[in-house]
Amino acid sequence: MSDFKVVKFGGSSLADANQFKKAAEIVRADPDRRYVVASAPGKRFDDDTKITDMLYACYAKAAQGGNFEEDFAAIEKRYNDIICELGVELSLSAEFTKIKNAFAHMAGRDYAASRGEYLNGKVFAAYLGFEFIDPAMYIKFGENGVFDLEKTMSLLRPRLKECEHAVIPGFYGSMPNDTIKTFSRGGSDVTGSIVARAVHAKIYENWTDVSGFLICDPRIVDNPAPITTITYRELRELSYMGAGVLHEDSIFPVRTAGIPINIRNTNRPEDRGTMIVAESEEVSKYVITGIAGKKGMSVINIEKDMMNSEVGFGRNVLRSLEKNGLNFEHMPSGIDTMSVIVATDALKPVQKSVLDEIEFRVHPDHMDVEDDLALIAVVGRGMRKARGTAGRIFSALAHAKINVKMIDQGSSELNVIIGVSEEDFEAAIKAIYDIFVTTVTA
Ligand code: ASP
Repeated sequence: MSDFKVVKFGGSSLADANQFKKAAEIVRADPDRRYVVASAPGKRFDDDTKITDMLYACYAKAAQGGNFEEDFAAIEKRYNDIICELGVELSLSAEFTKIKNAFAHMAGRDYAASRGEYLNGKVFAAYLGFEFIDPAMYIKFGENGVFDLEKTMSLLRPRLKECEHAVIPGFYGSMPNDTIKTFSRGGSDVTGSIVARAVHAKIYENWTDVSGFLICDPRIVDNPAPITTITYRELRELSYMGAGVLHEDSIFPVRTAGIPINIRNTNRPEDRGTMIVAESEEVSKYVITGIAGKKGMSVINIEKDMMNSEVGFGRNVLRSLEKNGLNFEHMPSGIDTMSVIVATDALKPVQKSVLDEIEFRVHPDHMDVEDDLALIAVVGRGMRKARGTAGRIFSALAHAKINVKMIDQGSSELNVIIGVSEEDFEAAIKAIYDIFVTTVTA
């Protein structure tokens, strides 16, 4: 492990000159912050448009043979304003001409979108006085479009070794034939993780506009407590349930190398943020680490006497889903009953065909579908040691007069998943938050 820190700044951290200044101050405050990954300028205010979205829209016009002058001029202006306000010695005119030309010659949607970070990387490198490294030459995807970690490491490692300070634009790399390819949206997080792995960083700092993860959604609970430390596995459970701050694919390059990720707030650099680590002995004082959930779930209830002694029953039910390309989320079961929980959106187009198939394969005594279900995951590595966690969850829900429709606890004892009616979703999260957090803090 080296002493280097890799710092990634998200779009809102580089949205205008003022944000650039804050980001640069953060980089300069610590000499270990040597490799910087930059996103494209994001929104400056709520109704603003991200550069990436402007580029997609502009390219869509160009690809249809339309006039995209005005759209492109608006993009140029965003960069020129930043350059001018920062007072950096840099002209992007030659770059703009080249990009415009490429747009007119169908350079591709990924190429178009990637120019947002490419240009921003140029600006940030000039402002910091760091070297600019174009990831097109070092971050590689395979023929199948899947990111190629091995190839990337073999190219990127030696390149970064020879340079003391660098800015690397996020979000893109290239295909074996050298055409530009982007990660999915928010992919600069992934670039940061790849760079951290390449230099064996001691930490990957991901600077954004929130001070890390919160125990639950602030739209549901007012001012929830922050999560100071979370393990990769807990984060995976929470993100799957819809708690998103970090791109999902940004975990694996650093996870295997044991590099922690620190989510920090560019607008409040004094906050510690959230530390994402492989393992942690430090248990949250609240026992639980986080609560997340999602609405829009349906449950297929299947009943049949003596189901438990019918070999292959479960397989036949799941086969019916598989044949219809339907993924299931959970499958709690009793002796003569089995419930399969699926996303409503995915179920509806194939519902009849799935039910017919189940009917045909297992001949249930009764079967029905219930919609409007919400799932809530209560996640925490501390649950393994604390007795009575499930009891506390259910008594909180009972007190709030919420009917629990389903319970599922993984054998890892890392999470408890609860199904409630959609209309109880917010109240249930509040009740669980209160029993674990408010009562401890108060
Ligand atoms: N600029 C890209 C996006 O808006 C990538 C990123 O910001 O991470 O999705």
